[in-house]
Amino acid sequence: MIMTDYVDRTVEQLIKRFHTNDPFYIARRLNIYVHLASMDASIGGFYRYLKRNKFIIINNKLQSSMRVFVTAHELGHAVLHPKTSTYFLKNYTSCSASEIEDDANEFATKLLINPNKNNTEMTREKLLEKYGIPSEMKRFI
Ligand SMILES: [Zn+2]
Repeated sequence: MIMTDYVDRTVEQLIKRFHTNDPFYIARRLNIYVHLASMDASIGGFYRYLKRNKFIIINNKLQSSMRVFVTAHELGHAVLHPKTSTYFLKNYTSCSASEIEDDANEFATKLLINPNKNNTEMTREKLLEKYGIPSEMKRFI
């Protein structure tokens, strides 16, 4: 959780700069290539740093809300630790020991919820549900 302040600031800066929290739009503006591809069902997507180019590859079998979350997660990697290539595994809870996975999950959750973070009428569970964020991410709100 050392990164929390940094993640918060990064999310705020991106939204302020691009006037949106749309991870697809932000990625495009940052020259990060986002592609859909067919891959094993156990993989949600991955981030790859290759010859100074940044690529986010999303599993085309994911449902749309999960595509948004995984893209936001991979965008987190691209922004927070750009030179580390990573995979998003469906059973991500098992690799949550990894600090960079935590960072990316925290980034994705805060990015997607940001416009509504002051919505006190909604419980954390409702917020997660509304934005299609996995319930395991509750601890980041
Ligand atoms: Zn990841």
